[in-house]
Amino acid sequence: MTSINNKNNGDPKNRGEKNRIDWNSIEEKWRDRWEEQRIFQADPDFARKKYFITVAYPYPNSPQHIGHGRTYTLADVHARYMRMKGYNVLFPMGFHYTGTPILAMSRRVAARDIDLLETFEKIYHVPKDVYTSFVDPLKIARYFHNEIRLGMKELGFSIDWRREFSTVDIIYSKFISWQFRTLRKKGLIVQGSHPVGWCPNDQNPVSQHDTIGDVEPAFSEYTLIKFRISDGYIIPTATLRPETVYGATNLWVNPNIEYVKIYLRDKDERWIVSKEAAIKLEFLDHKVTIESYVLGKEIVGTLAKNPVTQVWLPLYPASFVQADSGTGFVMSVPAHAPYDYQALEDLKNNDSIQKEFGLKFVEVKPITVIESDGYSGIDVIPSKQIINKLNIQDQTDPEIENATNELYSHEFYKGKMLQNTGKYSGMPVSEAKDKVKSEILMSGDADTMFELINKPVNCRCGTQCVVKLLNDQWFLNYGNTKWKYLAHECVNNMEIVPEEIRQEFNYVIDWLKERACARKTGLGTKLPWDQDWIIESLSDSTIYMIYYILAKYVNDKSIIDPDNLKDSVFDYIFLGRGNLVQVASECNISTALLEQIREEFSYFYPVDSRHSGRDLVPNHLSFFIFSHVAIFDRKNWPKQIVVNGSVLMEGKKMSKSLGNIIPLRDAIKEHTADAIRLAMLISAELLQDAVFSFDTVKGIRSKLQDIYDMGKESSTNSSQSQIKSAKIIEELEDRWLLSRLQRSIADTTVSMDKLRVREAAHNILYSLDHDLHWFEKRAKAKNRESSSVQYTLFTFLNTRIRMLAPFAPFLSEEVWDKIDNSSTSIILASWPTADEDKIDIIAEESEQLIMNLIFDLQKIVKVTRIDPKKIIFYVAARWKLKVYNKILSSVFLESKSNFGDIMKQLIKDPETTKAKNDPNLVRKMIEDILSDPIETRKRRLLLENFDERLPIEDARKLLSLESGTEHAEILVYIEDDTDQSKHDPKSKGKFARPFKPAIYLIDQ
Ligand SMILES: [Zn+2]
Repeated sequence: MTSINNKNNGDPKNRGEKNRIDWNSIEEKWRDRWEEQRIFQADPDFARKKYFITVAYPYPNSPQHIGHGRTYTLADVHARYMRMKGYNVLFPMGFHYTGTPILAMSRRVAARDIDLLETFEKIYHVPKDVYTSFVDPLKIARYFHNEIRLGMKELGFSIDWRREFSTVDIIYSKFISWQFRTLRKKGLIVQGSHPVGWCPNDQNPVSQHDTIGDVEPAFSEYTLIKFRISDGYIIPTATLRPETVYGATNLWVNPNIEYVKIYLRDKDERWIVSKEAAIKLEFLDHKVTIESYVLGKEIVGTLAKNPVTQVWLPLYPASFVQADSGTGFVMSVPAHAPYDYQALEDLKNNDSIQKEFGLKFVEVKPITVIESDGYSGIDVIPSKQIINKLNIQDQTDPEIENATNELYSHEFYKGKMLQNTGKYSGMPVSEAKDKVKSEILMSGDADTMFELINKPVNCRCGTQCVVKLLNDQWFLNYGNTKWKYLAHECVNNMEIVPEEIRQEFNYVIDWLKERACARKTGLGTKLPWDQDWIIESLSDSTIYMIYYILAKYVNDKSIIDPDNLKDSVFDYIFLGRGNLVQVASECNISTALLEQIREEFSYFYPVDSRHSGRDLVPNHLSFFIFSHVAIFDRKNWPKQIVVNGSVLMEGKKMSKSLGNIIPLRDAIKEHTADAIRLAMLISAELLQDAVFSFDTVKGIRSKLQDIYDMGKESSTNSSQSQIKSAKIIEELEDRWLLSRLQRSIADTTVSMDKLRVREAAHNILYSLDHDLHWFEKRAKAKNRESSSVQYTLFTFLNTRIRMLAPFAPFLSEEVWDKIDNSSTSIILASWPTADEDKIDIIAEESEQLIMNLIFDLQKIVKVTRIDPKKIIFYVAARWKLKVYNKILSSVFLESKSNFGDIMKQLIKDPETTKAKNDPNLVRKMIEDILSDPIETRKRRLLLENFDERLPIEDARKLLSLESGTEHAEILVYIEDDTDQSKHDPKSKGKFARPFKPAIYLIDQ
């Protein structure tokens, strides 16, 4: 069937050339019309089921580009689909001004930062007089807010704009204050000292939204083991494996970096650390005085005492030790750390280094202190073993990182401490790790240190972030176990799309701890009980979906006076608490209005689907769950989260430096909204990265043009009443196309329900197109009158356009307007449902047979190179079909495909016993069946008395046209036909198998 589409056999592909669509004016027309009709405004309608869909609101510090468009477009497609399924869909939008990035941007404008100004001018096309006003952060936010809103309208998003707000609106701030007081009353906001990611320049905590590349600073707690040298100085080494201190053989120092001798006033201790480490220690609240500087090479060879084993260990030189990692010193445990083992080996083999540092090199023996499956026995050195296994050559081999991780986790989960670890002997490593750590911490021989594990993390201001121990900071206590428990319950009872993300949520919920929720600077709401702090952006964006309900009334300025709003209003509307009359009078709102808002909230809440990018799983989406379970009853917990991957531009990540950031509004103007929408969704399923390419856009546009043209023809050719009253044509290809259409409806509906939109869009745009072309080709070859195909084509288009509507709203509306005379928008038309009665397996089998025969015939003509006068098809004898059916049911129903078993069964049955004379035929049939797709097998099980002659005769003309044998006469016989006229001089007939007629070409 593949060969059919390759050629352009006069099918109507090129018809579009003559009437190019003026897309821009079509888009504008429908945008205006929809707005006039207020078609996206959703109010409670208690007779209908509601569907509340939201997307993470955008941060207006730039216009949206192609990369932003995917999540919003997906949500819009979802919203439009649910509307067609009959739901009263609410899809609102707000704007998130909160935080420091816009503020930082305004400072850069004030400082005339060339990079930024050029971005405004060249990439975002902001007029100069506008961006010079950007010294005011609010001007930035308002400008891009407006740009984004226009872009969303131009893309056709079905948003109820009456509910728009920004997070610096007065009433929004009142709402956030209420949220925070509510959380605090529940004991979920605490004050204390905790480590946070920190920008030393801004003097502010940083999280994902504040960093370049949107990385969340991640840190771990390391144990600093204090090795003492003879003059009393301490050499601290940072480790995640304190239990291996028993196996330490030496320390590593980098001879080429500068170290500092420091006095820690808070501990009254003297340490040697790298310069970088001294700075980190200050951020971790140590009081550091620098006494002097010393080069690494000056301390090579010094001895330091292991505080646990009391053994004196030498400091050896190593270039892998980094100044900004840990303290700039490393404890060497060669038996369990592949890096250490390899570095020692490298050092042993390097005479010149030994000479340079005057090391009289003593053979260092690794000390094994842990045994585990696969690494046990006397004299086993696990790191040596794994180095050999992975064939690692030296310490620069990148595989060594994998070796380290593998051994670390293997020993953590499966390892046991050996006898040389004293009282820990026999203890599982996972237990010993914490015990050893707390014991040496208690004895003062160790300290702790927080360190970024994904550095460098850079703040948007360009400064490298550190970990800071922050005092008097306000935290949301996501570490609270009861709270975690509820969050798990919520995740486990909701739908997560795709399902595989569910475990990621559960993991994040377990892992989250206290999280700083306020900042010293930025836009946003002040912490209600401590005006020095501003609530940060990932904390004021967790339950704002409820605010969309209120926003409709807030935006109608005459209704609500912000000065009158007290917490009791929010309590009443959102939690159903308090007395209606009392609250109404307290806030000077009529009881009727208050009741109406409460009812609207009860109608639309909970959120039925929350859409967001995958990068927001570990933060925003998890906080969204936490806040909901803390504040609301179970019935108002969110029902579904949908997560999607990102977008690559022509296969590359989008970034300003690559110059491949294309603002959405520019792209729409040039390539049309519908094509951009489809191109963002059609290249990938949810979690995959979508690859956006302009070739795809062009291909989609030409498909849409075809559909438009078909609509136009359909509307001009005849009136719909004519079509509706037209006689239903029972030609094979009509029955086939309508049957395929039902299957497509069923498949596409399943895909849409699961939000497999790539699959759905493919069905609608490509698979159906393929079917349509086949139909047209068949009808044309039969010289059918155009009036005779009208009914089928109209039904096809009417169905297809409704399935296309969520994806390509403008084009669909335009075509719908031409072909449907109900004068209702396609937005409110119903999603098609599959009609089982129209499934026609005989038609499907027939067309499949014709496609296969065209393919076979083309092959034969090509190989034999003859120009046949006659083409004879011999279809298989009746008894072969019985054999076939019997084999099919044993293969398919009993999943038996063993030749011997099948043959036995065939011989047993008198109707098929003839098969024993032709074992080869049976073998071939088994092969045929096994290579057929499941759908084909299923269909053939249901087929009875299928006569292959009919489709061949029906498609005579097409068969010869497609195989380039126009002058040939086509004849069809049954192989055991006793008809006198049957012509089978070469006895080809006996090769016929069911669904595989034998073909004979005669060239004279
Ligand atoms: Zn910064």
